[in-house]
Amino acid sequence: MNPQCARCGKVVYPTEKVNCLDKYWHKGCFHCEVCKMALNMNNYKGYEKKPYCNAHYPKQSFTTVADTPENLRLKQQSELQSQVTFACGANTLSVYLTPATSFVFILSLYSYFFHMSH
Ligand SMILES: [Zn+2]
Ligand SMILES: [Zn+2]
Repeated sequence: MNPQCARCGKVVYPTEKVNCLDKYWHKGCFHCEVCKMALNMNNYKGYEKKPYCNAHYPKQSFTTVADTPENLRLKQQSELQSQVTFACGANTLSVYLTPATSFVFILSLYSYFFHMSH
């Protein structure tokens, strides 16, 4: 049985099927909500289960971030940086930390808290 298109509600056959945002779309129906620009798996941006082009993706919503590998990596990186800043209690110190030294620094920080909790 073929699924129905999330846009037009008509049956989507395998040859014209786009499986995105937990829904099925006709290739022609998978376009930007705002400007109707045709999208594909590689250039669409999903927001509230609707596809948008790069220009019309609702950027004002900072809380909704797609969990792409790149976004996850950036998120982890910024968390790491804020951790360092927080631990130092001053922004100035984190400037002097290179990636290598900050890794050692965080490692010693973890072992410090590890011993504290015992
Ligand atoms: Zn359709
Ligand atoms: Zn658009």
